Amino acid sequence: MVVFECVGCGAPLTVPLTQVDLPDHAVVHQWGNGVRDMPGLVPAGTWAGRDAVVVAPGDVRGLSWVEGRLVGYCCGIDGHGGPNLACACGRPVATRVDDCSLWQAVWFVPGAVRATGDPGPVLPWDAFDWDGVPLTAEDRWWRVRVEISAGAALLRVAAVAGDARVLVPDGPLADTFRHELARCGQRDPAVTLGLAGPGAEPDSDVLLVPRHPQTGEAWPAPGPVVPVAAELWTWLARTAEQPVRPRTSGQWATHLDDDPPPRRCRSITPRVSDVLRWQ
Ligand SMILES: [Zn+2]
Repeated sequence: MVVFECVGCGAPLTVPLTQVDLPDHAVVHQWGNGVRDMPGLVPAGTWAGRDAVVVAPGDVRGLSWVEGRLVGYCCGIDGHGGPNLACACGRPVATRVDDCSLWQAVWFVPGAVRATGDPGPVLPWDAFDWDGVPLTAEDRWWRVRVEISAGAALLRVAAVAGDARVLVPDGPLADTFRHELARCGQRDPAVTLGLAGPGAEPDSDVLLVPRHPQTGEAWPAPGPVVPVAAELWTWLARTAEQPVRPRTSGQWATHLDDDPPPRRCRSITPRVSDVLRWQ
């Protein structure tokens, strides 16, 4: 695990953290309107980032507020006033975001911190559970996460395919992408869309491949690939029935009429507009 420290004075500014792939919903700045129980952008104990390191708000240490920058709109701080957390040496090093409808996070200013310590090994692909069962009825944010991921994936598939028609095989891929892709390219010859990854051999022109859950590296595959979040890829690749649990706590109201409860939740809808709005 690594600790991020201030480049100015060397003070440790986080607890020890492990790396995770930057989630796709990081590009969707705002979710809903006035949602007061937004989850963290990344899980506690982890960090992610490409241009900037992001951690869970509870994982920072030794920081204090920057006066005059604690701005928000109603329930918390939205960070639009610039870095609002400073190291003890006085350098503004990070921006905390915790207002309603915003993923709770602390974003470090690019170049303000450096990682120290041993990050540990990058786990091999087969160390992860690619047959895992999504607890979709217990995780309120599962659908939001994968639908944003699907929106980002759809845009990338359309960009790779250009003006060619995209043929999508029946199953979760078609349920998720066929309707939207039918409105994109119309030129023949068509290209086929398929999956490649753990347990899925490439057999299509354009391949959806998983990103490594730690590093975000794309699964190696030949030809045009569209890397997607491991969580979405697993959902698309595993067509077998999965024990989606009965709804609880007022969620999944549409399943009130299902008896017995469904074994796999209904298809997901790519949230293209949310991705486009904030990218
Ligand atoms: Zn410092």
